Amino acid sequence: MEPCNECGNTAVLPKSYGGHSVLECDLCGALSGGHTSVATIELAREAQQEGVDAPAYGVQRALSSLDGVKVVDCQGGCRSRRKLPNVRFQALDSRGFVQLENLAKSLRLSAGSMSMAWTIEVDFQSGLEFVLTPRVATSRPREADVALAQGDLPLLARALDRDVRLSWWRRP
Ligand SMILES: [Zn+2]
Repeated sequence: MEPCNECGNTAVLPKSYGGHSVLECDLCGALSGGHTSVATIELAREAQQEGVDAPAYGVQRALSSLDGVKVVDCQGGCRSRRKLPNVRFQALDSRGFVQLENLAKSLRLSAGSMSMAWTIEVDFQSGLEFVLTPRVATSRPREADVALAQGDLPLLARALDRDVRLSWWRRP
């Protein structure tokens, strides 16, 4: 077996997390194996450290990295309680509104690869807030809708991470 890339330790063990098989260094915890598996598990660990629902964490991270955007809440959704995932955010200033346009365009472009129709709702709490969430026809979504929406979250995070680097993304 190959030694650990990070520390050179030779005790590298096969592990499985959430259906992803990887190799984990017994000494330093570094992961190796398939790129997608390693990235998924590292994201889940980071989410746990940040205290955020793991499935939605990638989306929250992508939104938080945008200038002028502040994420105020992030929910990964719950099948048994039929709660859809959503990420609530504020536009801190005019830059945030430019990002809103970017986000809406990104959702439009990635719509074909999503199971649900994702949208940005406008809401008012103590100030103007926006909610990234899937659109459903009823106030009580089916468990299956929640499952589909949760399945979309990693795709959404990847689409955002990709789009912010593209030339059409306006930089405020
Ligand atoms: Zn190691």
